[in-house]
Amino acid sequence: MVQEKGTISINTENIFPIIKKFLYSDNEIFLRELVSNAVDATQKLKRLASLGHYSKDLGELKIQVSVDAKAKTITVSDRGIGMTAEEIKKYINQIAFSGATEFLEKFKEAKDANEIIGRFGLGFYSAFMVADKVEIQTLSYQEGAEPAQWLCDGSTSFEISEGKRTETGTDVILYINAESEEFLQEHRIQEILNKYAKFLPVPVQFGTKKESVPDGEDKDGKPTYKTVDVDNIINNTVPIWTKAPSELRDEDYLDFYRELYPYSEEPLFWIHLNVDYPFNLTGVLYFPKLKNDFEIQKNKIKLFSRQVFITDEVKDIVPEFLLLLHGVIDSPDIPLNVSRSFLQADSNVKKINSYISRKVADKLNELFKKDRKAYAEKWTDIGLFVKYGAISDEKFYEKAKEFLLLTNTTNEHYTLEEYNAKVRDFQTDKDGNVIYLYTVDAEHQHSYVQAANKKDYDVLLMKSPIDTHFIHHLEMKLEKTMLKRVDADVLDKLIVKEDAAKHQLTEDETKKLKEVFEKAINNPLMKVEIESQNAGGLPVTITMEEWMRRMKDMSKAGGGMNFYGSMPDTYKVAVNANHKVITKILQAGEEQQTGMAKQAFDLALLAQGMLKGADLTAFVERSVEVI
Ligand code: ADP
Repeated sequence: MVQEKGTISINTENIFPIIKKFLYSDNEIFLRELVSNAVDATQKLKRLASLGHYSKDLGELKIQVSVDAKAKTITVSDRGIGMTAEEIKKYINQIAFSGATEFLEKFKEAKDANEIIGRFGLGFYSAFMVADKVEIQTLSYQEGAEPAQWLCDGSTSFEISEGKRTETGTDVILYINAESEEFLQEHRIQEILNKYAKFLPVPVQFGTKKESVPDGEDKDGKPTYKTVDVDNIINNTVPIWTKAPSELRDEDYLDFYRELYPYSEEPLFWIHLNVDYPFNLTGVLYFPKLKNDFEIQKNKIKLFSRQVFITDEVKDIVPEFLLLLHGVIDSPDIPLNVSRSFLQADSNVKKINSYISRKVADKLNELFKKDRKAYAEKWTDIGLFVKYGAISDEKFYEKAKEFLLLTNTTNEHYTLEEYNAKVRDFQTDKDGNVIYLYTVDAEHQHSYVQAANKKDYDVLLMKSPIDTHFIHHLEMKLEKTMLKRVDADVLDKLIVKEDAAKHQLTEDETKKLKEVFEKAINNPLMKVEIESQNAGGLPVTITMEEWMRRMKDMSKAGGGMNFYGSMPDTYKVAVNANHKVITKILQAGEEQQTGMAKQAFDLALLAQGMLKGADLTAFVERSVEVI
C-alpha cells in the first residue's frame, strides 16, 4: 500500500547521473557517508537518553554493515534515532536545502566529491554512486512512531510507505549497480571500513570472526576450548587522541603508533594536541626517525573529523615542514568539504596551522631544557627536522634559535649563542666578520680540519643534505657571520687576520715557480697561485671557492642543469711560497723540478681525496722508486 509518491525537490529531470559521473573517482566514500550518518543517529539517541528524553533501554548501540553478494545489496544498519515519514520527506527528499538552482550553478565549480557533498548535504545521496536503487527502512525513537520505508530508483521520483522495521533505528539498503560490483566483495568493504571507520566512536560490526572460548574442563581438569563465531567489530571507539594525556602511558602512545604504521621504526617522541578554544582540535603527532628522502615520508598525518577519517593530505592544514611528522589530527572545525583554495584562506585553518607549529616548538624547547643530553643524542634525527622548520617558517625559526644545535667535528653540540661565544675571539677576521668553518666530511677533509684545529679554529660538521640550505639561512640570519668550508681556500685566506704578509720570493722566482707547477700539472682547470702562507702549513693546497661550490651544490640539489651546473669544476692550486719544499723545488735543477712539483701537487690531491685511477697508480709507482 503506497502512501505517497513524489519527486525529489530539485528542478531537473535527473541529477543522479550528474552526481554519479562527478563523484565517480571517489565512489568508495559512499560507505563513509552512510556509516557517519549511522554514527550521528546513534549518538543523537544517546544524547536524548542522557537528557532524559528517551527512557527505553538503549541496548547495544552498534552499527552493522553487511554484504549480500547474491542479492547484490549492501546494508548499513543502526540503532539510532530513526526517522518518521515526515522526517524522511524533510531530510532526505529535499536534497539541497540551499536550493536546486544554486546547486546546479555550484556543482560545476566543485572540485571533487567531498566538496559537492559538504556544500549541499548530499552525503546520503552518495549512495547513488554505487547503487541503482536505495531503500530506507526506519523506525523513529518517538513515542507511537510508525515504521516507514523509502524507495528511490535513482530517478528523481521516490516512494514513501509503511515500513517493516520493528526496532528503533534505520537500515539503508543499497542495490549495487553493475559497474560497482567490486563493493560486493567482503575484502573491499573491509578495506574501506579500515580506512574510514577504524576509529569511529560507535562500534561497527562487519561479519563475524572465529574466536576460541573456554568450554569447561577435560577429565584431567585442564580447560578446554571451542571455536565460536563472534561479531567482528572493526573499530577502536576510544582512540588515544580522545583521551586525556594524564590517562596515557608511553606504551599507549607507542602501541597506537604501531597500529598506525605497522612497519615503522619507533618514533623519537610525540606531542598530544588538545585545544578547545578558539577552535577544536585534538591529536597526537609523532616525530619519526627521519630518512633523507623527505618526499616519501610526507603525508603520514591522518586527518579526522569527529573520528571519521577524512584524508591523509593535510598539506594546507599543517605547515610544510611539519608534514614530516606522523600521527593524527581531529578537528570538527576544519572545513573538510571545500576546495583547496578556500581551505588556504580559511581563518580557522590558519590558526590551526600556527597553533601546531607553536606546540611543536614548545615541545622541542621543553625537551631541550629538561634533558639536554638526551636531546643532543637525538639531534641527528631532530636536527634535520628543526633545520627544515627554521628555513621554511620564520616564526618557527624565532623559537628554534633556543634549541637549534650546531655540532662540531669532535661531536660537541652548541646553541647558536654558545657557538658564537666559543669561536668569536679566534675566528673574527680583520673586517669584524666571524667565520664559522665547516666540513661536510671530516674524514675526507681531514687534512684541512687538522690544519684549522692546529690554529685553534673550530670546525662544524655539516653533513646532512639540508645543510646546504641551512648554511645559507644562517648567514642571512646571523649578524656579521660567514660560513666557509674548510677546503674553500687556504686557512689564512678563509679567516684573513691582517693584510697578508708578502712572501720572500722575487718577481722572477714567483713567475718561474708558477711555470714549473703549470707545466707539471698541465691542466687548465687548475689555477696555480703562488701565495704567502705559514711555513708550517702544507706546501700545496687545492681548494674550490666557497661560492662556486655552493652554486654547484645548489644546482645539483635542484636537479636540472643550469649555468653553474654545466660549468666544469675549477680549482685553485695554492703553492705556499714560504714552505721549504717549495724553496727546494725552486732551487732544484730543471730536469728535477717538474717531477718534484708533480709530486707535491699529487700529495695535495691525495689529501683532498682527488687522486684516482691512473694518476694514483703512477703516483704510487713514483713514490716506490723514491724509497
Ligand atoms: P548530512 O548528514 O550532512 O546532514 P545527509 O544527506 O547524509 O546529510 O543526511 C541528511 C539527513 O538525513 C541527516 O541530517 C539526518 O537527519 C537524516 N539521516 C540520514 N541518515 C540517517 C540515519 N541513518 N538515521 C537517522 N537519520 C538519518
